[in-house]
Amino acid sequence: MTPQRELVMETLAANPGHHATADEVWQVVQARYTAINRSTVYRILELLTRHGLVTQSRLGSSVVHYELAHDHAHHHLVCVRCRRVVQLPAADVSTLRKRIFERHGFRLGAGDLTLEGLCVDCAAADGGRRV
Ligand SMILES: [Zn+2]
Ligand SMILES: [Zn+2]
Repeated sequence: MTPQRELVMETLAANPGHHATADEVWQVVQARYTAINRSTVYRILELLTRHGLVTQSRLGSSVVHYELAHDHAHHHLVCVRCRRVVQLPAADVSTLRKRIFERHGFRLGAGDLTLEGLCVDCAAADGGRRV
């Protein structure tokens, strides 16, 4: 593990539950630790992903977000209004996974699943109206 890789890991670890873009990681490493090329940060994030230390998710946008891989797998609920991200334990998806297989013979991959909707606060502000 090179020092630069450790800095990237530390940056992700400093914000548990946060899903950072490569640019965000680059800015933090740059500001807090050391001068580093943006492309180096991208390369390190790709490498860490291949080694299973970091996971990627798009969270309903075109930009890839990174976070440390956790002991337990999780998926994401993304609020379309405030962009808040809620972690959805993989177990909560297992019924859906089973149902999709039974009805369509389709095996859902282990990769990230992002479901969009309204978070509890935005739904309340909305007076319970549906999206
Ligand atoms: Zn919201
Ligand atoms: Zn996540």
